Amino acid sequence: MKITKGTDKNYSKVKVLRNNNECLFKGIAIECSIKGKHKTENNHLIQQASYLERIAYKDNVMIFDFENRDYIKNGGKLVRRNLKKANTFRVLCGSHDKYLFDEIENGNKFDENNYKQLFQFALRAYIFYFSEQEIKSKFDNIFTKVKKIDDFYFHTAEKKRLEKYKRAVLEEKWDSVETKIIRIRSKVEFISCYAGIPHIGFILPFRIQTGMISLNIFPVEDDTIILLSYLKDDVGLSTAPRFCEKLVKLSQKNEKRFLKYINKLIIALDHNISINPMYWEQLTDREKKDFYEMAHIFPNCKSYKDYYIGHIKLKYKNSSINLFST
Ligand SMILES: [Zn+2]
Repeated sequence: MKITKGTDKNYSKVKVLRNNNECLFKGIAIECSIKGKHKTENNHLIQQASYLERIAYKDNVMIFDFENRDYIKNGGKLVRRNLKKANTFRVLCGSHDKYLFDEIENGNKFDENNYKQLFQFALRAYIFYFSEQEIKSKFDNIFTKVKKIDDFYFHTAEKKRLEKYKRAVLEEKWDSVETKIIRIRSKVEFISCYAGIPHIGFILPFRIQTGMISLNIFPVEDDTIILLSYLKDDVGLSTAPRFCEKLVKLSQKNEKRFLKYINKLIIALDHNISINPMYWEQLTDREKKDFYEMAHIFPNCKSYKDYYIGHIKLKYKNSSINLFST
């Protein structure tokens, strides 16, 4: 990846935009808090105390840190970051951060029967996704080489979707999000918190998927929890229910194949993944190479045709890395 003056300027602009962000939930349920000159705080994408510490080594985790200008300088590789600074973005004020995620913070244990928790996991992934899209909409070619994201789509569909989440918070309707829970009887050494529309068919038959999903993966004691969530009343015609149902069935019928699919999905799509540095260190060079090869497919796409080719590459990629085998 080349660094030009333009890229450097872009990264400065990202910083300015983040620093001047308004709290995304301003006016919802409670008053915003203001600390210092910023209207938002550095919010953790993944709860530090309750979750991130589980995969840390000496208070460090491996992340992409893609909003940092060094990301391009070091070839888009993972870097070690202190827990306190790993994947933090200015999205919410301190009060809303606490209010919206009270059930999954403060050392609260994961409880699959707690709808409020499940809602908060889905919301968390979504608002960080939303905030990133909002920043991308102000640029050409930032974080990816594809031209500016579709403004019309962003300003209509995504804003409507955010409104739906806000209404659910106001009305405390935690069951407005449907969550499928898959438990794996082994413990992973990474945490994933992703939201997006994965148009992927690299193992399942190729079919256009138009559903926005939130995907959370984290270790709980000796197991791993995979949460697949979506808004029941989503914007437009969503295929998310069918997509998630299909994955659940696959997980029951053929867990190995299911994990192979999820493994590729998160490596290729979740650039917010956090990995245990000790786990990363013991991977072979071949495994690391395969990881980067898949992680860089989409950020390097310049056109929709590239995307299409990227999906096919991913589908037939014989990946030596399997984040689920530890
Ligand atoms: Zn606020």
